[in-house]
Amino acid sequence: MERITIIGLGLIGGSIGLALKRSQLKDLHITGVARSRETVQRAKKIGAIDDEMRDPAEAVAGAKLVIVAAPILATPQIFHDIAPALEPGTIVTDAASTKGNVMAWARELLPEHVQFVGGHPMAGKETSGIDSADADLFRDKTWVIVPSVGASEGAVRTVVGVAQELGALPTYMDADEHDSYVAAVSHLPLALSSVLFSMVFQSAAWPEMAKLASSGFRDATRLASGSPEMAHDIMHSNRDNVLHWLDRFQDELYRLRATIAAGESEPLLEAFARPQIERDNYMLNGAPRRDVSAPIENVSLGDILLGSKINSFMKKQQDMIKDMEANEKGKRR
Ligand code: NAD
Repeated sequence: MERITIIGLGLIGGSIGLALKRSQLKDLHITGVARSRETVQRAKKIGAIDDEMRDPAEAVAGAKLVIVAAPILATPQIFHDIAPALEPGTIVTDAASTKGNVMAWARELLPEHVQFVGGHPMAGKETSGIDSADADLFRDKTWVIVPSVGASEGAVRTVVGVAQELGALPTYMDADEHDSYVAAVSHLPLALSSVLFSMVFQSAAWPEMAKLASSGFRDATRLASGSPEMAHDIMHSNRDNVLHWLDRFQDELYRLRATIAAGESEPLLEAFARPQIERDNYMLNGAPRRDVSAPIENVSLGDILLGSKINSFMKKQQDMIKDMEANEKGKRR
C-alpha cells in the first residue's frame, strides 16, 4: 500500500485525489488535509481521499509522496510545518501557479533528505473548492515539471508518472521561464478579465448594458469569477512578470486606440485581421513548433478580401510541418 498525502483539497487537490483513485495505480491510500473540517469530510464523501487528518505534520508521516495543492502563499508555512515529519526519501511536489517562490521555499524550508519536484497543472476552472473537483480536469492538459537541483531521477520520474496517470502531458521547464510565460498566457488574462468586468459593472448604465451582455462579454470576463485569494497570490508572487505584460498590453491598447482614432479602413481592418489569422491557425494546428514557425506576413486589405495571403500562409505552414515530419521519419529509418 503506497501512501500519498494531499494538502489542500480544493479544485486542484480534490481533482488530483479523484483522478488518482480512478487511475491504474492500485493499492493507494490517500490522506487529505484542508483548512476546514467540512472540506475534508466532503473530499472523503466524494471519494477523493481515503482518510482525513487535521495536522499536516501527522498526515505526511510515512507518506511516499506529498502533494501540496494549497494557496501559493500558504506554501511556506506548510513546508515549515511538515519539514520535521518528512521521512528520508519522501517525494514532495506542488501545484502552485507560480514556481520561482515555491522552488526557493522548498530549498530553504524542506530537509535535504526529501526530494522536491515542483509542478503546475495548466488546467483550471473559474470555480474553486472541493465541489468543483473533477477527475477529468487534467486530461490532455500540460503539466509543468520543475525539478529541484537535488531531485533524483527516480523522484522526477515518479512525479511525471503521476501526472501521466492523471491524463496530463508533462513538460519540463525552468522556474523563471515558467513564471515569465504564464504571466502572459494565464495571469494577464486573469487581470484583464477582472478589470473589464468591474469597469463595465461600475458604469451607471450597467443595468441596461447587462441586458445586452451576451456570450462575448461572458467569455471575456469568465476568469473574473475565480478565487480572489488565488488571484491575489498569483499577482503577489509573479509581480514583475505581470507588470511587464500589463505594460506591454497598455502599449498595444494605445496603438489600437490610435488606429481607431485615425479612422483609416486599411490599418483598422489589419489590426483585427492579423490576430484572426494567427488565432485561427493556432486553434487549428495547436502551438507552433519552434522550428517550423514562420513570421506572419503583413496582411493588407486587398489580401483579406481575396483571402490569398491567408491561404498562402496556411499552406506554407502545412508544407513546413509536412517537410519536418518527412525529415523526422527519414532520420528514424
Ligand atoms: P481552492 O481554493 O479551490 O482550494 C484550496 C484548498 O487549500 C482548500 O481546500 C483550502 O481549504 C486549502 N487550504 C488553504 N490554506 C491551507 C493551509 N494552510 N493548509 C492546508 N490547506 C489549506 O484552490 P485551487 O484552485 O485548488 O488552487 C490550489 C493551488 O493550485 C494554488 O496554488 C493555485 O495557484 C494552483 N492552481 C490553481 C489552478 C486553478 O485554475 N484554480 C490551476 C492550476 C494551479
